[in-house]
Order: sequence, then structure tokens, then C-alpha cells
Amino acid sequence: MVSKAPVYVVLDPQNNAAPATPAVISVQDLVHRYDGRTALDGVSFDVRAAELFGLLGPNGSGKTTMFRILSTLMVAGGGRVVITGFDAAKEPNQLRRQIGVVFQAQSIDLKLTATENLWHQGHLYGLRGAALKSRIAEMLAMIGLADRAKDKAETLSGGMQRRLELAKGLLHHPAVLLLDEPTTGLDPGARRDLWQYLQVLRDEEKVTVIATTHLMEEAERCDRLAILNEGKLVALGTPSELKREIGGDVILLDARDVESIAERIRARFNVDAQVLGGQVRLERENGHRFITDLVEALPGEIEAVSVSKPSLEDVFIHRTGHKFWTEDAEPPS
Ligand code: ADP
Repeated sequence: MVSKAPVYVVLDPQNNAAPATPAVISVQDLVHRYDGRTALDGVSFDVRAAELFGLLGPNGSGKTTMFRILSTLMVAGGGRVVITGFDAAKEPNQLRRQIGVVFQAQSIDLKLTATENLWHQGHLYGLRGAALKSRIAEMLAMIGLADRAKDKAETLSGGMQRRLELAKGLLHHPAVLLLDEPTTGLDPGARRDLWQYLQVLRDEEKVTVIATTHLMEEAERCDRLAILNEGKLVALGTPSELKREIGGDVILLDARDVESIAERIRARFNVDAQVLGGQVRLERENGHRFITDLVEALPGEIEAVSVSKPSLEDVFIHRTGHKFWTEDAEPPS
């Protein structure tokens, strides 16, 4: 039986006068180093009840380290993690009862059926008999596998197997579901599906979900996001709040001499034109009108121009000054 945990309450960090919101996960000034290499450098954020929260960052930004600390696989070098009132360093056993964990590596047994996998998992948590049977049926229905209950896991698609992992993680009614890059190895369709199921589970189970990802389109689906870069928290908010902060459009220019063009745009229009990835990039309100001025001011020098609404990649660039994927660390295909 899962014990009833105290609710940990914090003030809204954006506004100390705001009413207190229950924080299910509280990460406070977290620091971690491996042999002198800093993996987390003073990261703080809260996750609220029944939020779908994303930890977005490029490779090496500290996501896995954060996941390991949250799931009590590792104790942080400094700072504090509290989940449903339990301190990860001081009360790991109580905390573990409050969380379900889905690792990147497969944990289901492919030779067992979907039901058998869940049956064994239930036993590990002390669930038995009719209660376990009905919980398994409920979970299989929720992840869209009711009709595959008796099929061996090896006959399920990659996406279905990942959903079975979700069901395993949630069987014991945890308050929090932690997932490390849950869509690794899935094709784009199965990725989208999995995120839809995460939204369903958040709503049906009222579970707080925290997932690491390096994919912008997955981060877009989160209620709120923490963006990490080189172990530091660089942005925190809903995807739309974060994009709104850019306050305008993003303009990208191709030209032969981008450095000279950027310099001249800065001097002439007093905007922060950057050279990034061989293009000139600037943020400006009413981008469509502004490009007319640009093309007139630099006749024949601009080879191509694009105007777009800010993306999460733009948020990352805005906060860090560099692209999400550098040339030596391209996104995995
Ligand atoms: P991410 O999951 O975002 O790729 P990680 O948490 O794995 O980031 O890594 C953060 C930093 O810590 C990186 O610089 C990485 O090289 C370093 N790091 C991670 N694990 C180890 C380890 N076991 N030993 C030494 N350095 C590590």
C-alpha cells in the first residue's frame, strides 16, 4: 500500500506574493561533478501536481545526471531534491515508493506476454490477486494494448513495447513518473503516439510526469519545460511563454559575406544581428515589414531571407547565444 505523503509547498518563484502552489518535485540548487567535470551547476525548479514537465537540453547538458539524481540512482554532490516531501538523499526508500521510473534501456521481458510482464511487476510492489488483475486491465486499456494482453512482448511494435514500459512504471500508482528519453529508437509516428499517451496518463492517473528529451517537437508537448545547457538552467516556463519572450519574429538571411552584412545591419538598424551557422540571425517585431527595409538597404547582397515565429530553438539561442546542436554534436537521426 502506498503511504500518503506530505505535500511539499513552495511559493511561485516568479512572484513571491502569489498563492502557494503544491510542488510535487522540488529541485534546489543542484550541483554535481564527475572527476572535476561539472554536470549540474546550481539548477533549481519545481514541478507541480499533474504537470507534464520536460527537461530539454542538447547532449552533455546534464539531463541524464538530473534523471539519475531524481530517481535516487545517484546522490547529488550538492543541493537538494524533494519529491512528495521526501528528500532524495536522506529518504531514498520512502521516495522510491512515490515514483515510477522508465529507463532508456528496455526492462520488459520479450518472452513474456504483456499481462505477464505487468503481473511480475505488480508482485515486486506487493500487489496481488483481484486488485492486481483489475489494475493490469486498467493499465492495458489506458495504453491501448487491451487487445494485445495475451501476446508476447516480442510481437509488439517498438512503440507498443515502450507503452508497456509506461504501464510497468505506473502499475503501483506512483505520484510521479520519471522518464529518460522515452522515445529513443522510435520512428516519428511512434514518438508522437507515445507523447499522446503520456498526456492521457497525466490526465487519467493525475500523475506528475517528468521526461528528459533532446527533441524540440517533444518539448513543445510539455506543459512546462526546464531548458538545460552545460549543466545550467537557461530557461523555465511553458513553451508559449518562453517563445513569447522573444517578442517578435526571427529573421534569417543568407548572404555571401555574412559578417559584413551583420555588422552593417547592427550599425544601420540598431538591432542585435548575429552570425550563426553561416547565416545572419536577428529578432524583430513585424519581421515581414522589416525585411523590406533590409533588402532596400542592402541591394543585391541578400541571397535568401526567411521570417518565422520563434521556436524553442530560438529560445535556446536567445538565452545561450549559440545553436542547440553545434556542428560537432549533430542530433541523432
Ligand atoms: P545529457 O544527458 O544531457 O547528455 P549528462 O548528464 O549525461 O548529459 O552529462 C553531463 C556532463 O557530465 C557531460 O559533460 C558528460 O560528459 C559528463 N558525464 C556524464 N556522466 C559522466 C561520468 N560517468 N563520468 C564522467 N563524466 C560524466
